[in-house]
Amino acid sequence: ANPTIAIVGRPNVGKSTIFNRIAGDRISIVEDTPGVTRDRIYAVGEWLGREFSIIDTGGLDVSSEPFMDNIKQQAEVAIEEADVIVLVTSVKEGVTDADEMVARMLYRSNKPVILIVNKVDNPELRSEIYNFYSLGLGDPYPVSGSHGTGLGDVLDEAVKHF
Ligand code: GDP
Ligand code: MG
Repeated sequence: ANPTIAIVGRPNVGKSTIFNRIAGDRISIVEDTPGVTRDRIYAVGEWLGREFSIIDTGGLDVSSEPFMDNIKQQAEVAIEEADVIVLVTSVKEGVTDADEMVARMLYRSNKPVILIVNKVDNPELRSEIYNFYSLGLGDPYPVSGSHGTGLGDVLDEAVKHF
């Protein structure tokens, strides 16, 4: 089986945008039994000649569930299935309570975690990423999903853990 990267994070940080950038047109939607397991979106990606599977754990929202429960389930799926977990946050809101909660879950899992600070659309925003060291997940990687910048460094780091 391919090594697996899972993308987690609260709604609207840009998970799907980043997933689409990485996966291109190789996306398939997999629906689990309703009410049993979250729906997910899977794709195959490739970087430096290495193939991997990628999961957008927030792929299909379960709006009937409370916000925090949704994110917790995403993190559980990621911890169970992924070799590398990418936690997406956003420079627009800074570090939120939900980010801290997910970061604690991921930290305890002992899986490799790469911390993305998304929406760093211009160089002036880069200085803001240092606030994200407080999540305790190491170096924050500045990304703009909209512009497609910063993802090369993220994938370089991810393949080290395959
Ligand atoms: P998700 O809920 O985490 O999957 O987030 P989405 O990928 O659906 O993005 C949520 C919103 O943020 C959308 O309006 C995106 O266009 C926007 N967005 C995503 N990435 C960026 C980015 O790098 N910069 C800016 N400014 N907006 C972004
Ligand atoms: Mg999404």
